[in-house]
Amino acid sequence: MNKKTNASSDMSAADFRRHGYEMIDWIADYFERLEDFPVLSKIKPNDLKNALPASAPLEGESFGDIFADVEKLILPAVTHWNHPNFHGLFSTSTSAAGIFGEMLSATFDMKAMLWRTAPASTELEETVLDWLRQMMNLNAGFKGIIYDTASVSTLHAIAAAREGLDLKVRENGMSGRADLPLLRVYTSEQAHSSVEKAVLLLGLGQKGLRKIETDEQFRMRPDKLREAIEEDKANGFIPFCVVATVGTTSTTSVDPVDEIVPICEEHALWLHVDAAYAGSAAIVPELQNCLKGCERADSVVTNPHKWLFTPFDLSVLYCRHLDLLKRAFSLVPEYLKTDETVTNQMDYGIQLGRRFRSLKLWFVIRYFGQNGLIERIREHCRLAKLLASWIEKSEDWELLAPIPFALVCFRACPKNTEDLDALNEKLMNSINTSGEAYISHTKLNEKFTLRLSIGSLQVEERHIEKIWKLLNENLAVAKSEKLNDN
Ligand code: PLP
Repeated sequence: MNKKTNASSDMSAADFRRHGYEMIDWIADYFERLEDFPVLSKIKPNDLKNALPASAPLEGESFGDIFADVEKLILPAVTHWNHPNFHGLFSTSTSAAGIFGEMLSATFDMKAMLWRTAPASTELEETVLDWLRQMMNLNAGFKGIIYDTASVSTLHAIAAAREGLDLKVRENGMSGRADLPLLRVYTSEQAHSSVEKAVLLLGLGQKGLRKIETDEQFRMRPDKLREAIEEDKANGFIPFCVVATVGTTSTTSVDPVDEIVPICEEHALWLHVDAAYAGSAAIVPELQNCLKGCERADSVVTNPHKWLFTPFDLSVLYCRHLDLLKRAFSLVPEYLKTDETVTNQMDYGIQLGRRFRSLKLWFVIRYFGQNGLIERIREHCRLAKLLASWIEKSEDWELLAPIPFALVCFRACPKNTEDLDALNEKLMNSINTSGEAYISHTKLNEKFTLRLSIGSLQVEERHIEKIWKLLNENLAVAKSEKLNDN
């Protein structure tokens, strides 16, 4: 039964404490029993929807009833990203400190639009992002701003780059203009789809994006970039932005930013660096080199929610021209006018209100300390190299890309197997449906490639041993099935 005492009140403080303690116990237990759950949810599409009432309850329900349904209905539908054998896509995990940060952020529920509506969020964000900038060894010319995802950070970066062209797109738009030639953005053929989506959303069209060839290590080829820009200019197009990637999605390859920078400077193009995944690695002294050249980029995106143990979502755009970002996005209606000379975060993006996201990053950085974070990222890279060493020693497996960070691209290649793509797809599917682990795939040089990412705070060497054993067991089964077929 609902325990409310009057028509407008929330849960009583006594109940909040009681349920809060229960909730924290539940979360602590969840982390302790994580490995008992199948990594990928086993439900079928619509199972959860069909189990839920079609309309909302008229009267409030007890917290106990709600919570019982979390166990009964929600948990089976959860894919456990925190599971130590979640190796698909980019393996990420939250952290206890980050969870506390989220709780507090929901508690304050501030909407950071004006400084006045959220001084804590505005000023903590500036400070924490400056800490992170220093940790990544980016120069002080970069000022950070938090968005939800890298997709949105990149969208804002390209919008700022376009604003810098002084083509009056803000005033006149892009349609119906005879004076506006084709605007072009360049990125590698290995770049994340978010670059293309940003181009679509900004009205530049797919023709507005040119994908540049990569080398044998999946890095953008600067010679091809130069050629493309020169050809486009000769055809009367307006090249205006290059998006390089440090840590591509398929293989974590690193574009040669230091060679791309002079091309951008020569042609006055904005250079945006997508370091959504690998930006975190730059806090590790021996990996810092991955951002070589980025000090001369115009903007860099990194995602603490990918590899800095910060609960989703939190993406940081570092930009050297916040004035252009502001020019592209600032629009102040009467009811939001203030007379303070302060940063109003609504001026730097499409959103008006913004969540107090910096709080969780502040918690994470303070709780682990720079050294604690470095140690954990270093350990993930060590585990990836360890797995790679087993693959290299085995006759049945091969590596398909270099391993700069903590992602291993590989495949099974037993002798006398005709269709390696089908074999590897089958291995991936059988591991994933077992619930024991989750791995994903990509295509490299037309080869079906298994991707195994290591990035969870829960992962230990025994989990890498486990997935290696699973891979080999599944391969043994596939081989014996083939023998039987023959
Ligand atoms: N850029 C890279 C290199 C990525 O790997 C990803 C996602 O994996 C993204 C961008 C998009 O990230 P988000 O989900 O934060 O938009």
